[in-house]
Amino acid sequence: MVIDLTTLAADRVPVVADIPAAALDAPAEDFVVGGPVHFEGDVERGSAETYQLRGQLQAHLSLSCARCTDPVDFAVDVPVDLRFVPVAVEKAHVRPSPSAVSDDDDDGREMNDEDPSIVLYDEPRIDLAQVAREQCYLAMPMKPLCRPECQGLCVQCGSNRNVTTCTCENRWEDPRLAGLKSLLKDAGPQAPRE
Ligand SMILES: [Zn+2]
Ligand SMILES: [Zn+2]
Repeated sequence: MVIDLTTLAADRVPVVADIPAAALDAPAEDFVVGGPVHFEGDVERGSAETYQLRGQLQAHLSLSCARCTDPVDFAVDVPVDLRFVPVAVEKAHVRPSPSAVSDDDDDGREMNDEDPSIVLYDEPRIDLAQVAREQCYLAMPMKPLCRPECQGLCVQCGSNRNVTTCTCENRWEDPRLAGLKSLLKDAGPQAPRE
């Protein structure tokens, strides 16, 4: 799922791909990809070795509810509009200060922290699986919920309060409050009145 930019047959080439879920290589605690990720669009050669990738990306993700950890289905259907710029060009002409560019990531590719639509590349190629993974991270909610009124897990016994009612709920007391209460109790009868 890698587009070699040096061998583009024309200035604008259609790109249609079904990226295997495993290629996204996302940690299961972040999300699980159900089925291939579909991308449809094109890549266009610009000036000075820049390339524009445009299209639409669709994926089905299974996330984990932030409250009860039940699986949450999430459909990604997002437009993609990314400009791929060679690192050398970016550093020489746009960014005189190397500190303004973030460190290399695992793939030796650099992400521009200030503008997420710009991708700096060392090698003239586009890894669609990596594009898909980043788009999924951008699209997914920070705190996915299985339902808006999810009751979450009991902090005491860990039972799912959407399906069971445990008895610890009523007995639970903020330990700081408990300490305060015993202080008040001790001071009770002797407490000065005004
Ligand atoms: Zn939930
Ligand atoms: Zn409980």
